[in-house]
Amino acid sequence: MQSTVIARPVNTAMGKRRKLSPESVWDYEAVLKAFEAVGAAAIHVPRMYSHLVKHPGSSWHDVPEFPKAAIAALDAGFALHTTTVLEVQRSRDGSTTKLLVRLQDGLQVEAVVMEYDNTARYSGTEEPPPTPQQLPEPELGTGDDDGQHEQEQTTAQQQQRTQQQQQQQDDDDDDDEAEYFDAVCSLGEALGGRKKHVGGRRSTLCVSSEVGCAMGCTFCATGTMGFTADLTAGEIVEQLVHARGVSTIRNVVFMGMGEPLNNYEAVRSAVHMMTDSRFFALRRRKVTVSTVGVIPRLLQMADDMPGVSLALSLHAPTQELRQTIVPSAKAFKLDRLMAALDEYQRRTKLRVFVEYVMLGPDVNCTTAHAHQLGALLRGKDLLVNLIPWNPILSPSMAFAAPEEGATAAFHRILRYEYAVNCTIRAEKGQDISGACGQLVLEHGGRVASGDGTGGSTAGGTGGACSSGGGKLADVEDLLAAPPGVKQQAAAVVVG
Ligand code: SF4
Repeated sequence: MQSTVIARPVNTAMGKRRKLSPESVWDYEAVLKAFEAVGAAAIHVPRMYSHLVKHPGSSWHDVPEFPKAAIAALDAGFALHTTTVLEVQRSRDGSTTKLLVRLQDGLQVEAVVMEYDNTARYSGTEEPPPTPQQLPEPELGTGDDDGQHEQEQTTAQQQQRTQQQQQQQDDDDDDDEAEYFDAVCSLGEALGGRKKHVGGRRSTLCVSSEVGCAMGCTFCATGTMGFTADLTAGEIVEQLVHARGVSTIRNVVFMGMGEPLNNYEAVRSAVHMMTDSRFFALRRRKVTVSTVGVIPRLLQMADDMPGVSLALSLHAPTQELRQTIVPSAKAFKLDRLMAALDEYQRRTKLRVFVEYVMLGPDVNCTTAHAHQLGALLRGKDLLVNLIPWNPILSPSMAFAAPEEGATAAFHRILRYEYAVNCTIRAEKGQDISGACGQLVLEHGGRVASGDGTGGSTAGGTGGACSSGGGKLADVEDLLAAPPGVKQQAAAVVVG
């Protein structure tokens, strides 16, 4: 367990300064700047992204009627991929695929894809499901558009898009919360009795936002590494580009390596790219940003990323306990965090997901803790996800699994004594260390050197900032993947 912590709550100036050359074409702001510098009209930027997203493997040279100045600018300073998939690992049950991604300067991160289907979603209940009256109300989704480009469109286009969005919302609104279970928590335990989703399989990508992490959460493999560097927006988006070669991605969770709100601008830009209807067009509610509670950024997120889901990694019901598990809580105290959460919800009107790693022996998972947590969260529009600690995954850490029955008892107290929406996570992909907090350990926990020869990985996810979903369907998918994935087809580990 890590005892010394370097809290880096907001300041992102520490760590390795990185300037990519060439830059990633998926870095929206950088591309905009390049267009501006050569006098190319900005309107061609979304046209290019629309083409690249619709035609994986194509380049800006293939975009119809693309200005020569823009092509020259991109040729001079940008690449379709600045990252390479070094290794693709697939879990034995086929549900999880882990991508080891090498950055341009040799640093490495991991992205995890988990795939869920309808049957898996409703399995694994540990007690009878709650009655329909006890189920959380479905939330209304939000639009996918930022509004900044709506003025560019004609009224007819807007109407058509509105109809399409409404249709999609009609299809999906009932399942917003279910998607979260699929994406982040897993079980249908709290979904029993609800209609089954008819959309078939859906995949979730868990992305990393930093190499290492400064927050030092004591249960987290990434937290033991310290902070090395921020990823650029383009490097974050490239994880999605690579993952699309593995599976169709419907959800993205910023729960991989790093505290996303410590790399705020890159995360904001990447989220914009992922959710804008001209680009990847993911529904905002299906993109989840996780944080241990960087309060100023959390409130900024409410304004900058409207409609995007927030997951708060709480892990303790009191300030005293929390600062021993999540050291950054010394800077962002629990009372201020809960007030910020209230303000966030006042501004966004969105349900917030709360991550709670159940750490034994009795660290934060006794019935007394459950009552404290229930009292803290009672009356709030939250969904608590209990994550039982699995010591097999991180044997070097001084935690144990919760005692038998402790998680179920904890759940019952929250749900039935305090009316707090709550579910229990079942891990996926454990045999490839694709579950919470393990990725870095498998590769030795060292950060690769800048020359790319340092070996090991910077990948890794914390119990809250972690986990993803999806599987590698078959080799044909890899063959249709972008170059970075395709060339690694031989590295697939089939469990
Ligand atoms: S749990 Fe998240 S915030 Fe905490 S150290 Fe791990 S990656 Fe960082």
